[in-house]
Amino acid sequence: MSDQGPRTAISLTGHSRLVGLFGWPVEHSISPPMHNAAFSALGMDWCYVPFAVPPECLPDAVRGVRALGLAGVNATVPHKQALLSLVDALTTEAQAIGAVNTLLLGEQTVGHNTDAAGFMRALRETGFAPESRHVLMLGAGGAARAVGYALLTAGATLTILNRTEERAAALAQDLKTVVAGAIVEAGSLEPGVLSAHAHQADLVVNTTVVGMSPHSAGCPWPVGVPYPAGVPLFDLIYTPPETRLMALARQSGAHATNGLTMLVHQGAEAFRLWTGVEPPVDIMLQACLHALGRS
Ligand code: NAP
Repeated sequence: MSDQGPRTAISLTGHSRLVGLFGWPVEHSISPPMHNAAFSALGMDWCYVPFAVPPECLPDAVRGVRALGLAGVNATVPHKQALLSLVDALTTEAQAIGAVNTLLLGEQTVGHNTDAAGFMRALRETGFAPESRHVLMLGAGGAARAVGYALLTAGATLTILNRTEERAAALAQDLKTVVAGAIVEAGSLEPGVLSAHAHQADLVVNTTVVGMSPHSAGCPWPVGVPYPAGVPLFDLIYTPPETRLMALARQSGAHATNGLTMLVHQGAEAFRLWTGVEPPVDIMLQACLHALGRS
């Protein structure tokens, strides 16, 4: 996104603390305006900086932010897996999910994953309590690992359907290994299999990229399979604000939520870790909407 609206006025001092984002690319990210709006609203002498880090430079970048005394960084595509082996310690979540999206730099460099907590906060905000409920998750990529882990540790049961069935089966197996007693099944995201599982779901979560801008005409739900009437949908995509799958769910009378609140809550969780301060979540959401041209 080339225009993210008016820039936040930041005045740095000799005491300013820095945090930031490792990505490749990072230009599209709305995390800088989101975090800087929060620092500004709280009058904190902190600043969040985007760092375009080529994959081969990631080890140097980790050493660099340690040397420079940053409080922490977020990480996005393609660095989340590579960071696993570049930290001193991993949280239980980061280890179980197999991805690091937040570094906390102190005496040790600790790899966290705030995507799972961010998803769960955003889901609970919709009024859905996952305990003992059955969730149909479309997709088995990186985001699905965090979402699946969050749902299973909260006490939900899970069916994972993915275009590449072997990947769904592998994720189900991994999740069973890391979450004791987890009930997970896997299959192929094709009309017959989806029809058989759709009516058993209490919630549908889309973790595939299908329908994301600029390919917003796409829909992971195959034509000809009715969406289960009234079953809520959480779509991790937030551009466009309403995917074709969300429209399909709403037409069935269901509540449909996009992924922007998950993005905000994973950021809020990182903010808490770095600063020890409760973040102004509403202001972070407003900053994101502004950066996306929706306010
Ligand atoms: P990823 O690891 O690349 O996984 C992509 C997933 O999409 C895989 O399951 C893949 O299936 C599936 N897929 C791709 N093309 C498909 C097609 N034509 N038909 C059916 N399935 C297809 O990506 P990711 O990092 O998990 O991200 C997935 C989505 O979540 C993205 O839209 C991302 O923006 C969003 N996300 C949102 C947040 C948030 O905070 N809201 C956080 C993380 C991610 P195969 O295995 O068959 O390739």
